[in-house]
Amino acid sequence: MQCPSCESQNVVSCPIAYDQGTVHTKSTSEGSTFSQGNVMGTGATVGSAMVSAQHSTRMTHNSVHRTAFAGRASPPSNPIWPPLKGISAAIGALIVLSLLDSVIPFPPWIGIAAFAAILLCAVWAVFAFLRLPDYRARHEHWSKSWICGACGNIFVPKTAD
Ligand SMILES: [Zn+2]
Repeated sequence: MQCPSCESQNVVSCPIAYDQGTVHTKSTSEGSTFSQGNVMGTGATVGSAMVSAQHSTRMTHNSVHRTAFAGRASPPSNPIWPPLKGISAAIGALIVLSLLDSVIPFPPWIGIAAFAAILLCAVWAVFAFLRLPDYRARHEHWSKSWICGACGNIFVPKTAD
């Protein structure tokens, strides 16, 4: 297998590049702080004592990194999610507004606007739904695609057919 553009052998299939480039890292930082102080007291006798304490600190940090290379090799996004998110956001806003209505009455146009937003997203969802076969085709194409590590060219090997 080699890149049809620059003939480099440094090629990897897109799903693998995407998987390997999405790195879940867990970093731990450890440290210690040391504090020391003098305590002076006057009791039956006058004395001083040295007090010291050691504190350990440990912090764990989880993060997801995606390399630019993996970003290029990422699968096509599903068109159905944005309108569905829009609908749920509009419905959520409407529920919150109607709950608040007894406290702060809202003008009727806000309700109309929210319904209009839901309708608009519903129409958008229908169009997105019609684009699903195209999305599946692009996803299928993506799963067969390879990416070149040298020039970043994305191609489908002829042998994959
Ligand atoms: Zn190349």
